[in-house]
Amino acid sequence: MTETLDIKITKTNHSRLNETDFNNLPFGKTFSDHMLMADYADGEWKNFEILPYGPIELSPAISSLHYGQAFFEGIKAYKHADGKVTIFRPDKNAVRFNKSAERLCMPELPEEMFIQSIAALVDIDRDWIPGKANHALYIRPFMFATDPYLGVAPSSTYKYMVLIGPTGPYFSKALRVKIETHYTRAAEGGMGYAKAAGNYGSSMLPARKATEEGFDQLIWTDAKEHAFIEEMGAANAMFLLDGTLITAEAKDTILDGVTRDTVIALAKDWGIPVEERMVSVAEIIEGAKNGKLTDAFGAGTAATIAPVGSISYKGEEYFLNDPEKREFSNLVFKTLNAIKYGTEEDTHGWNYIV
Ligand SMILES: *Cc1c(COP(=O)(O)O)cnc(C)c1O
Repeated sequence: MTETLDIKITKTNHSRLNETDFNNLPFGKTFSDHMLMADYADGEWKNFEILPYGPIELSPAISSLHYGQAFFEGIKAYKHADGKVTIFRPDKNAVRFNKSAERLCMPELPEEMFIQSIAALVDIDRDWIPGKANHALYIRPFMFATDPYLGVAPSSTYKYMVLIGPTGPYFSKALRVKIETHYTRAAEGGMGYAKAAGNYGSSMLPARKATEEGFDQLIWTDAKEHAFIEEMGAANAMFLLDGTLITAEAKDTILDGVTRDTVIALAKDWGIPVEERMVSVAEIIEGAKNGKLTDAFGAGTAATIAPVGSISYKGEEYFLNDPEKREFSNLVFKTLNAIKYGTEEDTHGWNYIV
């Protein structure tokens, strides 16, 4: 038996629920009434607390601000028609949370503490979960170093926090993406596989340049040759080429996505061949030209399944087939939603019931 986590709960006396416009939920801007916080000190996690969402006081010398000892996770919770609330595969995020922690010399958080703390917060703010199609509650767990010390050394104290908020669809149309051949997201031996804050800071300039050129997203390539496709923005890049689902294998430059893993499992259920391997830019461009590339999309918790409309490479734009007519990604999207919203049986045991 696992012990129940001891959490101090202070509820708000002014809920913002009725002031929130659930018809206008841009990603990451709306937060629920409460948040969760815990401290790591003297070698252990303590002071688990759920309190009203709001600012917290910190020393300006905390090492996470100076040296980036900080990372996060992204998870979603769903409301079923019968009112049941489920969280999608939080056990996978718990494992990845600790992989990120290890890479950044930060303390691990026992998986049970991770899952129970999130479930407790979601439970308290369950009225914040939108009941609408394609809407969910986004869950943002994160950890950061709190020693007020300017030496470049691992902190001895940390905070673990969880914020949650309702969210709608992330992208509304097929994406115009560009294959990045100058900037790099991750290199071998680096921390691309960790959801480290610094990985996202370094992606902003290349992303902004791409936006200025009229693109919606970047496709990241390998650091050495820019010849192999790694990821798409903050989502895993997946392709159906000549009937086979292909995606970069999970290695140290790739964020091992839960959505990626889920799509692979569904493809295997359906008898579709899957290859996790190096994906060359050349074969994808060739497939776009000869029509063998019948599907291309980004897979991630925030973006869900985001279809690619066109791929640009070295100034040339290659248009893909009509996203609405794509069999595979549309079936993945439909099936995933059916499992998440409880209209189809969850045979893999992916839904954690709150
Ligand atoms: C979060 C993230 C993903 C997607 O992972 P999921 O677990 O499916 O949400 C993919 N790539 C990067 C770089 C990410 O940060």
